Amino acid sequence: MAISGRLTDKIALITGAGSGFGRASALRFAAEGASVVCVDRNADAAHSAADDIAAAGGTALALTADVSSAADAERMTTTTLEHFGRIDIVFANAGIPSSGDAHTTTEEEWDRVIAINLKGVWLTSKYALPHMVERRSGVIINQASVGGLIGIPGIFPYAAAKGGVISMTRQMAAAYAPHNIRVNAICPGGVYTPLVELSRQKRGLTASSVEEANAIAARNYPLGRLGTVEEIASLALFLASDEAAWITGGIYPVDGGRGAVG
Ligand code: NAD
Repeated sequence: MAISGRLTDKIALITGAGSGFGRASALRFAAEGASVVCVDRNADAAHSAADDIAAAGGTALALTADVSSAADAERMTTTTLEHFGRIDIVFANAGIPSSGDAHTTTEEEWDRVIAINLKGVWLTSKYALPHMVERRSGVIINQASVGGLIGIPGIFPYAAAKGGVISMTRQMAAAYAPHNIRVNAICPGGVYTPLVELSRQKRGLTASSVEEANAIAARNYPLGRLGTVEEIASLALFLASDEAAWITGGIYPVDGGRGAVG
């Protein structure tokens, strides 16, 4: 791994780092010089990401935690501070898919999706914020979705949670700008990951192959294809770096034009 230094000496905590966007971002941040705390509720996945970073010459720590638990979220911060003494960047990325519309969603499904995709995003930075305020420095990136920007049928509680993440991001940006803490949100469009596979299964979408399902989904995208995990990691890296020093409260689609056409 060539260390090119856009995040030299930074300490980054990434949730959902065991798969998809989180994993790609963890590898990318580490390649740019950050020490990365790879958080995931799947212990094997968290360790695999951290091991891959170490094998490539980077620095990483694996941590098993559930972002919907306040106790786990607090432990993410204390463990990071114990190991690295600082937290510069929090990427609240972990999330799960959902299916259904307003009348078919059960209360249990609503509570589960909101607990991880909305409350979990808040809890991920809640315990790091006092430390960032004290240091007058910090970057928070919240993972939203194009599903929080436009109406997409069949993802009801997911859309509600992601819309909440967008509002939460603007509120946090305003509240913490006086403390020199930047807060932005990313709104990815479709990228084929385990989350999307599960989402398709939950929604009963069938196709003869993954390639065919991706091709059907790609028809909704002006650029004519789904995205890649690296394309999401690229924006996360930019927002995390000092190149984005004057950017806060931004809601950034990375979606092949999906949000522009609805
Ligand atoms: P993924 O399934 O590949 O990875 C998600 C990771 O989060 C998994 O490793 C999982 O174990 C972990 N995770 C789930 N719940 C957790 C919890 N409670 N605590 C800790 N870790 C937990 O998914 P992905 O596609 O990389 O999605 C990452 C984020 O991007 C999610 O917030 C998702 O909503 C969002 N997103 C994805 C897409 C897409 O098309 N893939 C589009 C828009 C937004």
